[in-house]
Amino acid sequence: METTLSSIRGIGPARLKALNEAGIFTARDLVMLLPKEYRDLSQTTPLSALQAGVPTAVRVHVSGEAREQRAKKLLITKVFVTDGSDVVAVVWYNQPWLKNQLTKGRELLLYGKAEWKKGILHLVSPTIEQDGGLVPVYRSIAGIPAKAMRATIEAALDACDSSWPEDLPESIRRQFGLCERNFALRNAHFPTDRAALAAARRRLAFEDLLLYQTALSLFRNTGREGIQFQFEDSALDEFWNRLPFAPTNAQRRVMQEVADDLRSPKAMARMVQGDVGSGKTAIAFAAIALAHGCGYQAALMAPTEVLARQHFDGAKEILEPLGCRVGLLTGSLTPKQHRIAHEAIREGEWDVVIGTHALITEGVEYRKLGLVVTDEQHRFGVRQRTMLGEKGDATNVLVMSATPIPRTLSLILYGDLDISIVDELPPGRKPVATRVVPESKRDGLYGFLRDEVKKGRQVYVVCPLVEESEAVEALPAEQVYEDLRTEHLSDLRIELVHGRMKPKDKDAVLEKFRAGEADVLVSTTVIEVGVNVPNATIMVIENAERFGLAQLHQLRGRVGRGSHASWCFLMADPNERLKFLCSTNDGFKVAQKDMELRGPGELFGTRQSGSITEGVNLMGSDTELLKITHDLARELMTEDSDDARTVIELAKKRFANKLSEIAIN
Ligand code: ADP
Ligand code: MG
Repeated sequence: METTLSSIRGIGPARLKALNEAGIFTARDLVMLLPKEYRDLSQTTPLSALQAGVPTAVRVHVSGEAREQRAKKLLITKVFVTDGSDVVAVVWYNQPWLKNQLTKGRELLLYGKAEWKKGILHLVSPTIEQDGGLVPVYRSIAGIPAKAMRATIEAALDACDSSWPEDLPESIRRQFGLCERNFALRNAHFPTDRAALAAARRRLAFEDLLLYQTALSLFRNTGREGIQFQFEDSALDEFWNRLPFAPTNAQRRVMQEVADDLRSPKAMARMVQGDVGSGKTAIAFAAIALAHGCGYQAALMAPTEVLARQHFDGAKEILEPLGCRVGLLTGSLTPKQHRIAHEAIREGEWDVVIGTHALITEGVEYRKLGLVVTDEQHRFGVRQRTMLGEKGDATNVLVMSATPIPRTLSLILYGDLDISIVDELPPGRKPVATRVVPESKRDGLYGFLRDEVKKGRQVYVVCPLVEESEAVEALPAEQVYEDLRTEHLSDLRIELVHGRMKPKDKDAVLEKFRAGEADVLVSTTVIEVGVNVPNATIMVIENAERFGLAQLHQLRGRVGRGSHASWCFLMADPNERLKFLCSTNDGFKVAQKDMELRGPGELFGTRQSGSITEGVNLMGSDTELLKITHDLARELMTEDSDDARTVIELAKKRFANKLSEIAIN
């Protein structure tokens, strides 16, 4: 029997509606909404020991007058606080009610991260806390304040306690030392201490991973009939011969795997993973050429307009001479261009269509679709991947990813796909020399940049997006741009590009940079994928501590594409993570380290929405747990026991919808 939401203390019509809109319909949904993180208020740090980028609790009092300042659409509230060990400035954005609360002398318990701004350490948008040890933080739901959310979940836990029995077999719980479900749920939300929290999260992650992997193994036993291509190996050689370079051994090997898939009666569902610059595009084009040679259309989907255009240009150069007619379909075409594109696709006048989401979001009909390639797949959810696959019966699907993922994780995230790895870079690439640059050396860095620009090189400066709570996306990039332009590098040509610009304006700026008409390009992470400017040899990453290792590695891949020595400067206080990045250029090593340091849950926490593992709780999992559950799932599949039957039933129940989704893939 399900406990209804409206029977829970504190949930009236307005909250009910807000919860429903967020996809929460039962008390169980609510209880399964685990905190995305916890604020540890059990220990405070002296201000003198504050470090950039580390979430910290501080106990302070207000030592000056609070002041407000306007900058564009932003209201900045600033105040100085002290705890005797040091004085630190605190800023908040667009929170007009704060000023009056920040009376001089008031005691505050603040929780947040410090950041460098113009060479001074600030505490940025900390929350003002009441006392309490480990405080859960939930993803925000419109219409429900954080405090109310906590109370509501507590009430839901009380309501669920008796109605939701333990269902993991006891023998499994005993074998792997897992706590009971009720204990786990309560402590995952309101932990009594760190040890209870760890036990709780381990139990919940274990259950999810075990059921999910059991579901995947059930699915893997069935194969999908596919369009079978017929061609000789010589067709592949012909394609390679047309390229301006000789393929690497890794490209050849992976392409052979792709070709074997295409020739088999089973539909291809393969992911090609390879570091940035490993030459995945050539593999995509080769597969497209094979499809075309067999009389089929192909579609290539890229996550951004810029990248789609870049592929379009490349395809015209490489595929058109093979008699393959190439078309472009993106969101920014005019209505008339859209109509023409749709018709060309339907009538088969285009053999290859390259585009963005528009390829699936509009009602595009293909004449004879035989192959679908999605580039930079981590940006797309499984649903989008599936939708494109559905455009043609039994279509072969090839997905490309520049995010190297440790093998254990690949098995889980992409258990439905075969995986090929391009583990070799084309010859002549130089590793990107990577250095951590603390604030004190900033001036020296600017001198170096100026010298390199004088030698004719170009520079990227990348700034993090500000967090949702900080209200505006482009702020840090705009600020850095202004500082460089008016102060530090005023003698150089500097341009700015960020995610909130119109695609057209964005393209114009990128084009200018590509053409060498700008020396420095300041940007948010929009340049992460795709852009290829061999003359740009330096990358500066502001607030590097804010990025994950894998993302930093990805960004760094934008430089080092030409014949000149190249550099990546991480602006941050040195730490273990960043130092590791300086020590290697191998994306798989970086990914492995990222996972070890942050845990798989952290790594994928932000990517889960719409992805295949949505609803699978990876928080609290670690590499060891991934392996244990993987092996156990396999074992149970071959076993004829009550435990096995119980787990398989649970897996089916839990992932029934997911399975059908995967099955169309
Ligand atoms: P990614 O794997 O990041 O998509 P690309 O396919 O964009 O990499 O390739 C990066 C660059 O390397 C391109 O300029 C491409 O022309 C070049 N390239 C690809 N394969 C080779 C090769 N075998 N030899 C030399 N250059 C290559
Ligand atoms: Mg690519």
